Amino acid sequence: MKYFGAHVSIAGGVENAPLRAAELGATGFAMFTKNQRQWASAPLSTLSIALFQETMAKNHFVPEAALPHDGYLINLGQPDDAKLELSRKAFCDEMRRAEQLGLRLLNFHPGTTLGQIPLNDCLDRIAESVRIALDSTEHVCAVIENTAGAGSTVGSTLSELSELFTRIGRPERTRICIDTCHAFAAGYNFSNAAVYEDFWKEFDRGIGLAHLGGMHLNDAKGECGKHLDRHDSLGKGALGKDTFARIAADPRFDRIPMMLETPDETLWAEEIAFLRREAGAI
Ligand SMILES: [Zn+2]
Ligand SMILES: [Zn+2]
Repeated sequence: MKYFGAHVSIAGGVENAPLRAAELGATGFAMFTKNQRQWASAPLSTLSIALFQETMAKNHFVPEAALPHDGYLINLGQPDDAKLELSRKAFCDEMRRAEQLGLRLLNFHPGTTLGQIPLNDCLDRIAESVRIALDSTEHVCAVIENTAGAGSTVGSTLSELSELFTRIGRPERTRICIDTCHAFAAGYNFSNAAVYEDFWKEFDRGIGLAHLGGMHLNDAKGECGKHLDRHDSLGKGALGKDTFARIAADPRFDRIPMMLETPDETLWAEEIAFLRREAGAI
């Protein structure tokens, strides 16, 4: 069983996300738990939580198939202490929201040095931020997403991800999400079968495949290794359809949420159908 879906909107309430995903023929979904461009949002109401869980069940989504994403303002490696505090509070709130909704995962971008602190300090700050959030919640896992490595963002290489994973020191509640566009932009050419295999071997050695918590399936507009975080629809970018057919059929990703963040929403149903076909599900 594979969980394919897309990052759907929560307009009108979080309970609309599973409904929108079901309309796409998805077996999973990604979403924000609040407005992603604001620091604070009203708490989730009891009614919203109940409706969300009811809609999940009605549409046969298991909690493991949902990969919520944190907001854009959060930088867990923030150099400024006061601002770091704000990010940590917001991240804890997002982890709690995921937990209140009965979900298992929260996907986040590790952070950026903003060019003001060494990588080493930034990794320490992120690791501490994650530990604080894990301590303030009970079971939800923090899912670190690989980045394209643009500017001073950290976490674009397997060695940085592995280092961060180790520094957090809570392997039972830490997972990694691999975004195919970001990996390609960071220099891992997944369109080459040998490079793809080497990547997963190195992932398994450094982090362990059991700690893979999700995938973002995006084709890439830029060239390999150019650090351009620009997603394209499957088959329209430099990675190509064969790359996604290979990923969809890969048994290592069974029961891992695999989410589209591709730019053309009108193609999502078609892209999901393609992935399900390649996985042998339909
Ligand atoms: Zn992503
Ligand atoms: Zn991206």
